[in-house]
Amino acid sequence: MFRICNKHQETTDHLISGCSEVAKTEYIQKHNQAATYIHWATCKHYNIKVKDKCYEHEPSSVTENEEATLLWDMPIQTVKEIKANRPNMVVKDRKKRTCVLIDMSVPNKSNTSLKTIENLSKYKDLETEIERMWRMRTTTVPVVIGALGLIKKGMEKYTSKIPGNIEIQELQKIVLQGTAHILRKTLSIK
Ligand SMILES: [Zn+2]
Repeated sequence: MFRICNKHQETTDHLISGCSEVAKTEYIQKHNQAATYIHWATCKHYNIKVKDKCYEHEPSSVTENEEATLLWDMPIQTVKEIKANRPNMVVKDRKKRTCVLIDMSVPNKSNTSLKTIENLSKYKDLETEIERMWRMRTTTVPVVIGALGLIKKGMEKYTSKIPGNIEIQELQKIVLQGTAHILRKTLSIK
């Protein structure tokens, strides 16, 4: 039995992405670190001042300049009630009149492709509502990286829609370092 939850077998899969006990803290942190990198890169794209090092960056709920507005983990107010109204990140580009909804997930390796489809349809209602309210061409970008760094073929098709030069290798590195940290931490518990 896994020493933290005492409910499931201590398999690598369970430790790195399947355990609901570890999920309460560690997986969320790993997920946030990867999303923070995207926020940091997008800020740089719009010439918004950020720290040199991505790991020192702390996204604010709202970041904006004359060109763009970035929302971080903020529910979007809509007239019509929409359940899935809180993407990890929203990027509004006022000049181009575009809006990108970014949804990040770090699933267990076996369901990477499933997650992509799920995330794409999850925000369909919100997309429609935003287009109507803000009059911006709106797209959802799912960023799905397995806990062991696995990505779905063709992921750059999605990440290239995010303003800023998002490097997939950098995202993989962040996720893998997070996973290594979780393994070291949980396996050192006696
Ligand atoms: Zn567990």
